[in-house]
Amino acid sequence: MPELPEVETVARQLNDKIKGKTVNRVEIFDQKVIDSKLKVVPYKIKSIYRRGKSIIMALNNEKFILTHLRMTGHFYYDPKEKTRYCAALFHFSDNTTLSHNSIRRFGHMKLLSKKELDAELKRLGPEPLEITEKEFVSLLDSFPQANLKNKLLDQHCIVGIGNIYAQEAMYSARIHPEKKIADVSPAKLKQLHHHVQRILNLSIVNNGTTVYNYANIDGKGDFQHLLSVYGKEKCPQGHQIRKIQIGGRGTYYCDRCQR
Ligand SMILES: [Zn+2]
Repeated sequence: MPELPEVETVARQLNDKIKGKTVNRVEIFDQKVIDSKLKVVPYKIKSIYRRGKSIIMALNNEKFILTHLRMTGHFYYDPKEKTRYCAALFHFSDNTTLSHNSIRRFGHMKLLSKKELDAELKRLGPEPLEITEKEFVSLLDSFPQANLKNKLLDQHCIVGIGNIYAQEAMYSARIHPEKKIADVSPAKLKQLHHHVQRILNLSIVNNGTTVYNYANIDGKGDFQHLLSVYGKEKCPQGHQIRKIQIGGRGTYYCDRCQR
């Protein structure tokens, strides 16, 4: 599942490549993934931004395209030919194209009014790169009995942090992943806030993490080379990494570094 840095990377690349372009034809090959209303052209793409793990394109007709790539969705800019798993091909007035590919068809692309977009996004928690340390601590403190890692993954609590970055941030903050929030000191939650932001920003600079088959528009990210615990056998201190299940998700941690 792409997390905040991967989705942010794709949104920034889309801004570079298609911002200001006018869509004048859309071919839809997979109606499960692509909203057929997107065929009503022309429309101009005014801007592209991210909210949580979603990519939003603001159009000149007061409408919005909401995209969720999920596990196996990709955008390809101006592919030479129609690629396998192509769900839709957007043709721009300058003869370039954008392809949305979906291998396992979990993602979607929908055309929404402002009101519909707001309804889709209203249950999302705050953005982790915008929340202050004080807000972060009090947000988590409002769920004292919850497992901290599960809350970090809960998009209604805070958006964009998935399984990889939650584990990395908890390692850096030296918090054991089985801790419930009431058992984590405010000082450690402040450390966690710092490391969540540090790690997400570092990953964005590295164009995200490439594991399984995530790829951004220009290729693969590089943050996988900077991981401390996810998928590792030894932590950076040389201790043996353990893997357990928390909330049904595989979780790597070091029981010497994380208490
Ligand atoms: Zn360790």
